[in-house]
Amino acid sequence: MPELPEVETVRAGLAKYVTGKRIVQAADFHPRAVKPSSIAPLNSIVGSKIKSVNRRGKFLWLTLDQPVAIVAHLGMSGQLLVQPKSAPVHKHLRASFLLSGKTVSKRQNEIRFVDQRTFGWVSIEEYLGDVPTSVSHIATDPFEPEFDLAKVVKRLRSRKSAIKPALLNQEIVSGIGNIYADEALWRAKIHPEIVCEDLSNAEVTRLIKCATEVMKEAISAGGTSFDEQYKNVNGESGYFERSLAVYGQEGEPCPRCGTEIRRIAFANRSSHFCQRCQR
Ligand SMILES: [Zn+2]
Repeated sequence: MPELPEVETVRAGLAKYVTGKRIVQAADFHPRAVKPSSIAPLNSIVGSKIKSVNRRGKFLWLTLDQPVAIVAHLGMSGQLLVQPKSAPVHKHLRASFLLSGKTVSKRQNEIRFVDQRTFGWVSIEEYLGDVPTSVSHIATDPFEPEFDLAKVVKRLRSRKSAIKPALLNQEIVSGIGNIYADEALWRAKIHPEIVCEDLSNAEVTRLIKCATEVMKEAISAGGTSFDEQYKNVNGESGYFERSLAVYGQEGEPCPRCGTEIRRIAFANRSSHFCQRCQR
């Protein structure tokens, strides 16, 4: 599932190709492609110019020259590709936006939303403050200037749940999913099942810093394509999975101490950790 580094890689790729372009056609091809809460059909934004491409956590949106945004969430397997309109149509194409503009290359003139598992969506939304409505309940992510580390640490420490699900709660800190949560917990030497209240201020602060650091490294590597679903806008995989210490490494030696990495099922997800380093 794409997490912050993958979505940021897609955002940066889109920004490069689509900023300043005008949308001349828009269409959807699957009943679940457009979120039911979308205030208008996709073709209502035809004629709009794309001013910028923005992200909070795992949400992406195109800021237009009108007071609505095109919001996209990649779900489990969503891809936003920038391709020629003449390129063969993908079997799982869910929506497309044809672009025009003086500088549009024929090689990159269509945004294509491809999603095999259909948990992803696009929608047309109004703004609530600075962000589209569906993003307004999402907490800031560690890369935003407004991110308040001390406040997030305080909120996490007040939880009665285990630290792992708290770290995945997008209303406390956004962008972190299963992969980067496991990696951050390993880096910070914290067991995924420790109750938040039992962690010190210093430990939780270190954990958020580790999460930020591992996601920053993953962005530099173009993200993690662990399940081969995630691709950047050019259809290429990221290569951060080579650097994963614990996620998907069950049975492999811990890179720090050599103890076998364990996997435990937890809250419908699996956690990967080193039982020696993470007590
Ligand atoms: Zn270890």
